[in-house]
Amino acid sequence: MTPEISTREKAPLTQGEKTLSNLLLLFENAIKIPLFRCQRCGECILSSTAFICSQRCPKQLRNGPCGGTGEDGSCEVYPARTCVWYRIYYRSQLLGRIDLLYKYNRIHNWCLDKTSSWLNVLRKRIEPPIPFTRHDKQAVE
Ligand code: SF4
Repeated sequence: MTPEISTREKAPLTQGEKTLSNLLLLFENAIKIPLFRCQRCGECILSSTAFICSQRCPKQLRNGPCGGTGEDGSCEVYPARTCVWYRIYYRSQLLGRIDLLYKYNRIHNWCLDKTSSWLNVLRKRIEPPIPFTRHDKQAVE
C-alpha cells in the first residue's frame, strides 16, 4: 500500500467547519502561539518534534533539516539563529523521544493552513498527538 504523503485527498473544510475552525482558533492560538510560537499550519506535528514548532524553520521543513545547517548548529538562511531541527534533535534526546524523528510527517497541505489543527484531528484529517513514546530506536550518547 502506498503511504499517504499528504492530506490533500481528505475532504476540504465545509463552510460550517470553517466557522467552527475560526472559533477554535481563538483558543488554539491563545495557547499555542505564546507557548510554542505556533505558525498556524493546521497540521500540528508538535508531539513528534519534541514540542518545538518545526514550522518556524524558514523553509518550513517537516522532516528534518535541509542539509545547510552549520557545524555549530546555525541556520543556513539566518546564520544568527540556531537551526530549528538542531534544537528539535537535542530536545528529543533530552525527552527520550528520538524514535519519533524516524516517523515521516506528511507534506504540508496548504489548504489547511490557518485552520484549527484541533478540528482537523477531530475530523480525522490529521493524526492525533503522540503523548508517550517508549521504544527509542537509537541509543544516543
Ligand atoms: S506544527 Fe503547525 S499547528 Fe503545530 S505548533 Fe507548529 S505551526 Fe502550529
